[in-house]
Amino acid sequence: MARLIFDGHNDALGRMWAARETPDTFARAQGHVNVPNARAGGFAGGFFAMFAPSAREPFDLDDFDPALMTGALPPDLPEDIAALAIIGQAGLAHQLQAAGHLVICTDAASLDSAFGSSAIACVLHLEGAECIGPDLLALDALYALGLRSLGPVWSRRTVFGEGVPFGWDRTGDTGPGLTERGQALIARCRDLGVVIDTSHLTEKGFWDVGEAGLPLVATHSNAHAICPVTRNLTDAQLRAVGETGGMVGLNFGTIFLDEAGWTTRRSTIDACLRHLDHMITHAGEDHVGFGSDFDGAPMPDALQSAADLPNLVTAMQTHGFGDALIDKLCAGNWRAFLRNAL
Ligand code: ZN
Repeated sequence: MARLIFDGHNDALGRMWAARETPDTFARAQGHVNVPNARAGGFAGGFFAMFAPSAREPFDLDDFDPALMTGALPPDLPEDIAALAIIGQAGLAHQLQAAGHLVICTDAASLDSAFGSSAIACVLHLEGAECIGPDLLALDALYALGLRSLGPVWSRRTVFGEGVPFGWDRTGDTGPGLTERGQALIARCRDLGVVIDTSHLTEKGFWDVGEAGLPLVATHSNAHAICPVTRNLTDAQLRAVGETGGMVGLNFGTIFLDEAGWTTRRSTIDACLRHLDHMITHAGEDHVGFGSDFDGAPMPDALQSAADLPNLVTAMQTHGFGDALIDKLCAGNWRAFLRNAL
C-alpha cells in the first residue's frame, strides 16, 4: 500500500468549478486529484483551495505562461463576482462530502478520524479573500461552511493587502504588505482558529503576519535560493517559518522548481529533492511538508498527478532520507501542525 500523504495545496475545487464539472467526475480519473488517483497514490488528505478566477473558463495548465504575468498584477476582482465562485466551490466540497469522497475536517478530531479512512480528509482553504468585504461578514459564513485556512490575497490586490506578481530572478519584496483591514482580517481569523497562509503575499505581507504573532505558514512555496521566483521564500523567511512553529509546503509546480520548469514548464523530481534539502536545512525537518499545487500548475514528468506520489517517496528513499523523515514530510508535520492550529 502506498504511503499516506497529507498535502498543503490543491486546486481541484477551482478546476472542477471553472470547467462546470459535476461532483461525479471526481470519481473518475479527471485532473490531478480525484478518487482513483488519490487511492493509487496514497493521497489521504490535504488543503483544498477555493479560488475565484478572473473568468470562468476551464484551466489550461499546458497553456499557462508565467512570463505573461511577470511584473504587473492582474486586475482586482469585485467582491460579488468572487463570492459567486467561492460559494459554488464550497457547495462542490459539500456535495463531494455527501457523496462520500471527502470529509470536510474542522477540528483535530475530525482530521484524525478522516485521515486514512475511505474518504479524503479535506481542510477547506480560501486562496485570496476578494469575496470577503471590509465588514468580514462573509468570513463568518465561510467558517460555518467549514473554512479553516485563508490566504488574504492571491497574486492580486485586495482590500486586505497585496499579492506577489509572478516573476523570475526577483524576490517577493514587490510591494506593500497587509493593510489595516488586512490586520483586522488576520486578527479575526486568529480568534476563529483559521490558519493564515502567506504563500501569495509579498515579502512585507509575510513579515506582517509574523509580527501579528501568528505562525508563518506558506502552504505551497519553495526555496528562492534554489529557484529565484517571486513566490519562493528567502532563507530568512524559511528560518522564520521554523522559528514561529509554522510550515512550508513543497510546491511541485514546475514554474517554482527550476529555470527549465519556468521557461518550458518541464521539470523533474530531482528538482523537488533540491528544494526539500534546502527547506529542511533552513526551516527545520519538523516544519516542511508538501503543497503540491495539483490541478493548479504544470507538474514534473514523473509526478503528473496524485497517482504518481509513490514516485516521490521512492526518490526520497533513493536520495537517502530515512523512514522517520519521510513520514514527517509525507503527512506527520502537517498533521501535527493542524492538530495544534485547529
Ligand atoms: Zn497558489
